[in-house]
Amino acid sequence: MSATLGTMLKQLQPDWSFQVFERLGDAAQESSNPWNNAGTGHSALCELNYTPQAADGSISISGAVKVNEQFQVSRQFWSHLVETGDLPAPSEFINPTPHMSFVWGEANVEFLRKRFEALKDHPLFQGLEYSEDASVIRSWAPVLIPGRSKSQPIAATRIAAGTDVDFGSLTHHLLSYLKENDAEITYGSRVTGIKRMKDGLWRITYKREVGYTPFVVFARFVFVGAGGGALNLLQKSGIPEIRGYGGFPVSGEFLRTDNQDLVAKHQAKVYGMAAVGAPPMSVPHLDTRVIDGSTSLMFGPYAGFSPKFLKAGSLFDLFASIRPHNLIPMIAAGGSNLSLVKYLIGQLVAKKSTKFEELQQFFPHGEQKDWYRITAGQRVQVIKKDPKKGGVLQFGTEVVASADGSIAGLLGASPGASTAAPIMLGLIEKCFPDRIEQWRPRLTAMVPSFGTLLSDDPELADSVMTRTATTLKIPR
Ligand SMILES: Cc1cc2nc3c(=O)[nH]c(=O)nc-3n(C[C@H](O)[C@H](O)[C@H](O)COP(=O)(O)OP(=O)(O)OC[C@H]3O[C@@H](n4cnc5c(N)ncnc54)[C@H](O)[C@@H]3O)c2cc1C
Repeated sequence: MSATLGTMLKQLQPDWSFQVFERLGDAAQESSNPWNNAGTGHSALCELNYTPQAADGSISISGAVKVNEQFQVSRQFWSHLVETGDLPAPSEFINPTPHMSFVWGEANVEFLRKRFEALKDHPLFQGLEYSEDASVIRSWAPVLIPGRSKSQPIAATRIAAGTDVDFGSLTHHLLSYLKENDAEITYGSRVTGIKRMKDGLWRITYKREVGYTPFVVFARFVFVGAGGGALNLLQKSGIPEIRGYGGFPVSGEFLRTDNQDLVAKHQAKVYGMAAVGAPPMSVPHLDTRVIDGSTSLMFGPYAGFSPKFLKAGSLFDLFASIRPHNLIPMIAAGGSNLSLVKYLIGQLVAKKSTKFEELQQFFPHGEQKDWYRITAGQRVQVIKKDPKKGGVLQFGTEVVASADGSIAGLLGASPGASTAAPIMLGLIEKCFPDRIEQWRPRLTAMVPSFGTLLSDDPELADSVMTRTATTLKIPR
């Protein structure tokens, strides 16, 4: 997020000076590390949670269209940087990986059929295919079929335009761009305090990971892009806008295999249905991953619980985030999400073999010996005040900014990295409203659809998607 915002602002206002503080010895070691997330270019091409089914059986596609629109903004931003030579060959961070949804059971098959019907003619979902035929599905993803009962109703959708993104590589490249353009990047430096001064500047206090001496720097604008650490830093800034916000950490793990015989048999991201009570980001999926030029498979995520807000955080993070103003929202959100609590406990106590059975629901002939466990990143879900319920837990992201726009931070995790570009554009509009007109030519150079919706303009959608597909070397 910080690398994306920094790059955008550097392009918009090259004469501003930038300083980035990272507490760890390198960038992208938390959620943006390629093995700490699933690397899905989230655009609702396969994630079923974006198309909920109403009680009357109708399918709502508005969430799917919204996240796809957002991903098209990211594609445009990355394409622009590839075209200007500020990002390297796209294969270093984005790779074509067909996106599939795969379901079993009559009710789920019916849901997927209806979902396909609802999306197939939409300009952003062109190329979506559907099949209930095992031989067709096998030709799309060979490991899904052998070992499955012939009488089991199954269905799948597939779209070639899906992507696997190495957000770690992308982060490093964006930071290199910033460094080459005179931004100062300070690693091993933990921000410990943010305070508003009388003259309106923000005083940032930071400490080196070795030693106790605090250092100070002053800034006109601060972006708190600290991932799970953002809530705490925004609370320290004292801005009233953070009052009532809390966080609930959900940790994750994946199973990974580097066995190239298996890797050769599966070249797709295959998303299934979420278990009852499971949070949307816990939808199981079997993925091809392309990281540092090597291909592996990953299955998960399995949810877990740790009170840490960052993988390298403290066991006291959750308790330290509690304030009088967020206590009621946190209690209320806990009380109204008992199915999530039950789901998390179920995942925590599940045996290794039970967990592996989840993988075998996708890959019936999968063998435990080929797979090893990796710990994913921490996601801190947003808890916020709600006038009716007292507090709600939400699974998206939220920009919290001061009224004068001089400080902003990002809470929450999902869909996250795929939508960093539109989220940061939204932040720019919120924090720098007076400059938008002056910056508009550069904004539209970065993102040609800026200020419009592609779904309202199929011709523009086609030209933008064709252009970004060509630049990023991914299927249209
Ligand atoms: C299991 C899992 C699967 C996911 N799958 C996907 C996916 O498929 N697609 C997708 O788009 N998104 C996915 N996400 C979400 C995505 O990973 C995140 O939204 C995104 O990486 C967040 O980026 P960030 O820059 O906000 O946070 P981070 O990448 O966590 O970066 C925050 C940085 O701030 C640093 N920091 C924290 N506190 C301080 C401090 N006090 N001082 C200095 N530095 C500090 C941290 O060390 C870290 O480097 C997934 C996340 C998880 C956990």
